[in-house]
Amino acid sequence: MSAHNSDAKNITVVGGGASAVSLLANLADLTSGQAESCQRSPLGKAGGYTVRIIEMAHCVGPGRAYRHRSDELSLNTDADTMGIRSKQEFSNWLREKNIAQGSIPRSLFAQYLRQKLEHAIAQLALSGVHVELVRAEVRDIERHLAGYAIRTDRQEIFQSDLLVLASGGSYGTPYESLSHPQEQCLTLDNLEDAAPLLQNEAEIVVLGTSQSAIDAALFLSRTTSARITLASRWGGLPLTKGKPKAYINQRLNATHCPLTLQEFMRLLEEELQCAEAYPSQPHHIPRGASLLTSISSRSFNESIQEARIFRLGWQAVMNNLTPQLQAIYERFTPEEKLQFADTCLPSLRRLRGAIPLQNAERLFRLLDHQRVRVLPGVRDVRYSARTGYYSLVFDASMLESKFIVNTTGLVYKAQAHPLLKRLPFIRTNLLGGVSVDVHTMRVIDGLGKPDPTCYCLGANTYGDFIITNSMEICARQARSAAASILQMFLTDPLSPSPRAAS
Ligand SMILES: Cc1cc2nc3c(=O)[nH]c(=O)nc-3n(C[C@H](O)[C@H](O)[C@H](O)COP(=O)(O)OP(=O)(O)OC[C@H]3O[C@@H](n4cnc5c(N)ncnc54)[C@H](O)[C@@H]3O)c2cc1C
Repeated sequence: MSAHNSDAKNITVVGGGASAVSLLANLADLTSGQAESCQRSPLGKAGGYTVRIIEMAHCVGPGRAYRHRSDELSLNTDADTMGIRSKQEFSNWLREKNIAQGSIPRSLFAQYLRQKLEHAIAQLALSGVHVELVRAEVRDIERHLAGYAIRTDRQEIFQSDLLVLASGGSYGTPYESLSHPQEQCLTLDNLEDAAPLLQNEAEIVVLGTSQSAIDAALFLSRTTSARITLASRWGGLPLTKGKPKAYINQRLNATHCPLTLQEFMRLLEEELQCAEAYPSQPHHIPRGASLLTSISSRSFNESIQEARIFRLGWQAVMNNLTPQLQAIYERFTPEEKLQFADTCLPSLRRLRGAIPLQNAERLFRLLDHQRVRVLPGVRDVRYSARTGYYSLVFDASMLESKFIVNTTGLVYKAQAHPLLKRLPFIRTNLLGGVSVDVHTMRVIDGLGKPDPTCYCLGANTYGDFIITNSMEICARQARSAAASILQMFLTDPLSPSPRAAS
C-alpha cells in the first residue's frame, strides 16, 4: 500500500467526466484572470497546489455521456447550451472548425473536452499548479483532521486537503433479474461494442422511454434491422424540441421562503397550470384534477400528445423553481419533507423528463414510420436461463427478447450509490444525492453548514437541482465551485507561500 503526501496543498476530484473538466477549465480561467489583474498568481509558488483527478475509465474527459465512438450517437441538447466555460463556447468551437451545428456526434464533444482539458492543464501549470491524472476507482474516502484519505481499488491512499465529488450517478436495476445481468443485458455504455451481435435480431427491447432510451433506439435503428420496442412502466416520452418563450415564474418566487408544504404544493400547482396555459392563454388557468397527480399517471397516448403540442415545456418552470425549491424545502418539518418525498417527488421526476430533446424529434419520425414502437405497462422483467431469453411481463401479455438494453436511468438515492453510501461525512438529501449549498456547491455537513473542504458536482446534487442531466447545469455548477475554491485559496492563511508566481 503506498501513501501519497507532500507539502503541497491538494485538491482531489473523484470522477473525471465533463464536470471535472469544466471545473479545471474554470479554475484555470479564473486563476489566469487573477494573475493578470494582480500580476501574481493567486495560487502561490510552483508546486504549491496540485489538482488530482481520479477517473476509473481509461481517460479523463468524456465521462459517461460522451465516451461513444459512433457517429450514430449524437448530442441531445443544443450545442449553444453546452460550453464548459461559457454557454456558447462549444458552438463557437464548432464554428471555428467549420462544423455544422445540426446533429453532432457525442465523440465530437469528447474531442472538445479533451482540448479544453489539455489547455487548462497548461494554463494552470503557468500559475504553478500541477495537475495529476490518475486512473483508478475510488473505493472509499475517510475524513480526518487534516483532510481526506482516498483509497482506490489499486490499494493506493491519496491524501487530500480538499475533495470534489464528481463521480456522476449510478445506474439503477429496477427489476431483480437485472441485478445479476447476463451478457445480453446491455446499457448505453456497452451498446456499441455489442452492435455486431445484434445485427440479425428480429426484435430488440429497450427498457425505458426517456433520454437514454431515445439514444439507444436511434443507434439501433441505424445499426440493425430489428424492430425496436421501447417499454417502460408509463411509456411517457420526452418533449420534442420546441421554441419555448422565456417564462418567468408567476406564482412561486424567493419571497415565499417560509411556506408550509401545503402552501408550497398549492403554489406549485398554480405555477404549473400557468405554464401549461402559457403563452396561448396567459390568463386562463385550467381547473380540474391536480396537475401534479396527473403528471405521474398519464398514459402513453396522453403523454405523446402532450409531447407533440407542448411549446413551453415545464422545463422553464423547473429551471426557475430550482433555486427557490431548496430554500422552501429546508424550512419544512421532517414530517413534511417525508410527505414531500412521497407525494410530490415522483411528479417532479416526471417533470424533469419534460426537457425538450433534440433527438426526440428524430424518434417521432421513427415512430411515425413504425420502425420503433412504445409499450407502456411493464410490470416485471424475468430471465430464463433455460431459454436464454428475457420476458417482459405486462398486465395481460408477455414479450420475449434475447437482448435487452437497460436505459432505466440513474438512481439518485445516495444510499444506492456505490461510493456515496460509504461516506459518513456527507449529508444526504431526501430528494436524492448529497445536500449542497447551491451557490458554492459545497457539501452540507452534519451541522447543516456548507463544508469549505468538500464540494459536489453533477448528478449527485440532484436533490437540490432536480435537473442535473444537462451540461448547461453541470457547467454552471463547475463555474460556481471554481469561484468558491479560488476565493478560499485567496483568503486561506495556510495557503502555500510566497504568493508571487514563479
Ligand atoms: C448517456 C448520456 C447522454 C447524455 N447526453 C447529454 C447531452 O447530449 N447533452 C447534455 O447537455 N447532457 C447530456 N447528458 C447529461 C450528462 O450527464 C452531463 O452533460 C455531464 O456530462 C455530466 O458529467 P459528470 O462529469 O457530472 O458525470 P459523468 O459523465 O457521469 O462522469 C463521472 C465520471 O466519474 C467516474 N467515476 C464514477 N465513480 C468513480 C469512482 N468511484 N472512482 C473513479 N471514477 C469514478 C466515471 O467513470 C465517469 O467518467 C447525458 C448523460 C448520459 C448518461
